[in-house]
Amino acid sequence: MRVEVDRQRCESNGLCVLSAPEVFDLDDDGVLRVASYVDESLRADVEDAVSSCPVQALALRDDPIGGAS
Ligand code: SF4
Repeated sequence: MRVEVDRQRCESNGLCVLSAPEVFDLDDDGVLRVASYVDESLRADVEDAVSSCPVQALALRDDPIGGAS
């Protein structure tokens, strides 16, 4: 699975980083970095991150990038 970030909405407040530090990180410029692929074992943490985002900037997608099966 993967996570989409709406960069227009993200306020770089770091709440998602607290929920899933293996997936999200803020760089030195306050730009949110997201792992390109998220392992299934982290689904609960990522769901917490998605629901904790106060501006609904995150979306969890099960479809792989490029449509690989
Ligand atoms: S919780 Fe939402 S607004 Fe905050 S850094 Fe994450 S994506 Fe951006």
